[in-house]
Amino acid sequence: MIELITANSAGGVLARRLLPAAIAIPLVLGWLQIQGERLGLFNPEFGTSVLVVLNITLFLWLIGWIARLLHRLDLQRQSAVEALYQANHALEASIEEHVSETALKEHRFFTLSLDMLCIVGTDGYFKQLNPAWERILGYSQAELLAEPFLNFVHPEDLARTRLEVENHAAGNPAVNFENRYRCKNGSYKWLAWVSVAAPENGLLYAVARDVTARKQVEQQLEQQAAILQRQADLLELAYEAIIVRDEHGAITYWNRGAESMYGWTRDEAFGNVTHVFLQTQFPEADIDLDKLLVQQERWQGELVHICKDGRQVIVESRQVLIRNEQGIPTGFLEVNRDISERKQAETALHNLNQELRRRLAESQTLLEVIPIGIGIAEDPECKQIRVNQNFAKQLGIPQTTNASLSAPDDEKPSFKVYQNGRELAPEELPMQYAAAHGVEVLDLEVDVVYDDGTVLTLLEYAAPLFDEAGNTRGSVGAFLDISDRKRAEAEVRQLNANLEQRVEERTAQLQQANEELEAFSYTIAHDLRAPLRGIQGYAQALLEDYGEQLDEAAQDYIQQIFVGINRMNALVQDLLAYSRLSREQIKLSGVQLAQVMVEAQAQLGTELSNRQGQLTIAEPLPSVMGHRPTLVQIVVNLLSNANKFVAPGVQPQIRVWAEQKENGVRLWVADNGIGIAPQYQEQIFGVFERLHGRDTYPGTGIGLAIVRKGVERLGGRFGIESVLGQGSRFWVELQGTK
Ligand code: ADP
Repeated sequence: MIELITANSAGGVLARRLLPAAIAIPLVLGWLQIQGERLGLFNPEFGTSVLVVLNITLFLWLIGWIARLLHRLDLQRQSAVEALYQANHALEASIEEHVSETALKEHRFFTLSLDMLCIVGTDGYFKQLNPAWERILGYSQAELLAEPFLNFVHPEDLARTRLEVENHAAGNPAVNFENRYRCKNGSYKWLAWVSVAAPENGLLYAVARDVTARKQVEQQLEQQAAILQRQADLLELAYEAIIVRDEHGAITYWNRGAESMYGWTRDEAFGNVTHVFLQTQFPEADIDLDKLLVQQERWQGELVHICKDGRQVIVESRQVLIRNEQGIPTGFLEVNRDISERKQAETALHNLNQELRRRLAESQTLLEVIPIGIGIAEDPECKQIRVNQNFAKQLGIPQTTNASLSAPDDEKPSFKVYQNGRELAPEELPMQYAAAHGVEVLDLEVDVVYDDGTVLTLLEYAAPLFDEAGNTRGSVGAFLDISDRKRAEAEVRQLNANLEQRVEERTAQLQQANEELEAFSYTIAHDLRAPLRGIQGYAQALLEDYGEQLDEAAQDYIQQIFVGINRMNALVQDLLAYSRLSREQIKLSGVQLAQVMVEAQAQLGTELSNRQGQLTIAEPLPSVMGHRPTLVQIVVNLLSNANKFVAPGVQPQIRVWAEQKENGVRLWVADNGIGIAPQYQEQIFGVFERLHGRDTYPGTGIGLAIVRKGVERLGGRFGIESVLGQGSRFWVELQGTK
């Protein structure tokens, strides 16, 4: 019921309008009848009649109203159906028109498409192709349809293509697949594919686009990228520091060369401002390099940079301005080469050069001023010899002339060269010889003989000159004019001969005089002994025979005579001993020094003990080549002096020892005596040389003269070491025995 009431049909409309009226109208009319009857307006019969009439009237009006409403609705529906029918017709017509138009369009698109459209069957053959295929690959439709499409695929792409087709058949649409198709002319074209499989008929719908041009561009780009990479690698390989800085000077590129040159890694360098970072020292203080680069695009010069370790490097820097495509400056590229070593080498070379120039100038000056003749030949045969001023002067030729005797006849000088009276051939001349044989010629004395008979004596030295390969390229010669020296030598020789003769004569005279003198002193000493003995005898007799008659003074005089006689005796004996030493034949033989010491002590008798002298002998004493009596004489005199020359109250301490020396044996006699001042140490070995009065220290002054003569006769040496007031050490050196 509800469904009917709410339905949008004619029944629904009828129900919704009639139902309320059918309920409300009888109720209202019934209520009005009851009210009228209650008020007595009418009686029940009238009331019922009026009620029936009103009911019929109202329901008639209601039916008429609803019938009109339904009629209107039906009219509306009929016109809507009509309109719908017409619209359907129109739609059908329009659809028909549209379908035929689409098919046409599709066909047009298919034939007109620039892309290659195709339908491929499950058998692997093309089923349909648009004309783009013929145009792009050069085959006819028939040719393309006649073969499986894989036959046209590049062998290298075949496997990929097969896999792609299989994938595709499995329902994966192909996107961005690319392979190469062979053209009729044998070349290949790159095709990019989009395809879809139609499962209902198993066909493959595909669109290919010729991307050969793009591929070529891509390949070129790849090649260029590879080249760029290689170049970038090369930049890394470069020894130079390659640095890029942006327009604000901040480092944006820092190659390996820069890392090794400056010690900063690329991470440390990035972002730093180059000139601050490297503490750049510019060639001119006020230069603004970046500004300059913007003005003139490039710059080249030397800069000084400081490395990470504080080291300073000098670089040869080349810098260029970098612009972007719009020509706006975006940075700077700098390539720096470390030239510190080169600079040092340059400085060293410069200094060397200067040094060489100086040396050359010195040599040149030396060559000109040196009082030696110098000749230089710069050809191996010495056909041309340049001479210095001195040599030209020596030879008597102008400095500009060729001094070589190997020169052609019309050029060579007119003198001849002789050695020991024989004329030398040009090739025998020292410079020529040195150059030809690569050897030095030293100390060669030659005579240069001129046409007028003048002779010049030269002392020659020549040395070869070698080139870098070690071959002789000439020679140098030094020529000393020794003509004057030669003359002087001859004179000296003559003089020497005379002198030697005179010296010999003098020596002979002296020797004779000496011998005569020694013979004389011997004779005197010897002959003095007899009268002395006489005087002594008579004085003794006088004392013995007349002693009692003589007064004290006379006796004292006689005593003085005895003292004089004793002194005279000592003198005579010493003199005799001394002259005997000179005259006697001495034959050397091995002598034991210990034996000599024993004999010397015996000869000294009580002399040592009289003064409490203490003698210490360091034993053992070696043997020497000598003559025993002479050695005893020497030792006696040394011991006697050592015992004698001590300060009053001092006990003499005498030490004797021997020492092995390179050339023999050295015998030492040392004392603790008064010592001898240095200026007298040589003098005291002379005859009669004494340093003290006879009253202080008695003696004849012959003792050390005997020592000297004796040592000389034994072929030995003697000496003294003494400090005044501190004692003396006398030594005698003789040959040891073998
Ligand atoms: P004499 O001993 O007879 O005086 P010498 O010829 O032996 O003569 O000595 C010469 C001088 O050398 C001595 O007079 C003395 O002045 C000095 N003389 C020699 N030996 C020593 C010595 N051992 N110490 C100090 N003076 C000495």
